[in-house]
Amino acid sequence: MANFELLKELSQAWGVAGREKNIRAIILREIEGYVDSVYTDNIGNIIALKKGNGSAEGKKIMLSAHMDEIGVQVKKIESDGRIKVCSVGWVWTAAMYNDRLRFQNGTIGVVGCEGNIEEAKNDCGKLYVDIGCTSKEETEKYVKVGDYAGFCGEYYELQNDKVSAKTFDDRAGCFMLIEALKRNNGEGPNDVYYVFSVQEEVGCRGATAAAAQVKPDIGISVDVTPDHFYPCDLEGCNAVGEGISVTLGDPSAMLDEDLVEAMLDCCEEHHIPYQRGVMDRGGTDASSMNLSNQGVRVAGIALVDRYPHSQCSVISKKDAEAGIDLIHHYTHRTFQF
Ligand SMILES: [Zn+2]
Repeated sequence: MANFELLKELSQAWGVAGREKNIRAIILREIEGYVDSVYTDNIGNIIALKKGNGSAEGKKIMLSAHMDEIGVQVKKIESDGRIKVCSVGWVWTAAMYNDRLRFQNGTIGVVGCEGNIEEAKNDCGKLYVDIGCTSKEETEKYVKVGDYAGFCGEYYELQNDKVSAKTFDDRAGCFMLIEALKRNNGEGPNDVYYVFSVQEEVGCRGATAAAAQVKPDIGISVDVTPDHFYPCDLEGCNAVGEGISVTLGDPSAMLDEDLVEAMLDCCEEHHIPYQRGVMDRGGTDASSMNLSNQGVRVAGIALVDRYPHSQCSVISKKDAEAGIDLIHHYTHRTFQF
């Protein structure tokens, strides 16, 4: 049984893209003693290696889960104390409206809208953050132009092994990587690099730098994918609670057919609950790994996430357990190519 208290801690850490210090500290603490080597690179990625058994058939596998989360940055403070912001990553204005944000220094604000939220049409420029101050001078005591803010979304248990919190994208991926890493005893043929990347939400930048260092034979993104179960969701067949999603479609990368086939086989062989996942928008760190170092074969493991990029996304703990099993067994396979 995975340690879901850790998922809770990871989800609650503050870490807007480019400002991942808090989340990085938790991960470094957790993986200490479980790896052969670990370092933080120049732009903040954690690159941890667990060596295999030295088999000649072994490959170099890079798994990438991103540490950063979406948020906003302050661009202006109005004379009446309201804070105007721009988005960091793809934020959904309706999901932020009338909810709280937390600035890096801990200051809390509530999101309002100039006019009707339905007319904001996902334009962050229509929003403002209210920290309770009514003049520019007063606001500037707590928040300055250039500061970043992220979601507050607390962690709650729902029915049927589901949980809700902010930032399961991609702290749930980080969680699955950490738990799989702890289970890796080094007896498999492959050298496995567990990469916790920065700045995915602003264009998969961390994974680009990490792939250049690792030079993997195989790249696997470990991320979330949108749920499609309810009518309010995007169209497709992903459903929270129906198993870990083996990614078959990712708009940002063409996934290697042999790797995908091996992943489906792996689920069947080890009786891991899984679903066939196609996402028709967004992207993952697979894109960065794919085009690195003269081209790298990539695949994706994804946790289905309902209400993604909101303050209260929903995942299934059973799906996460299946994801940990899949990462474990897949990284211990012998790949023939
Ligand atoms: Zn993500």
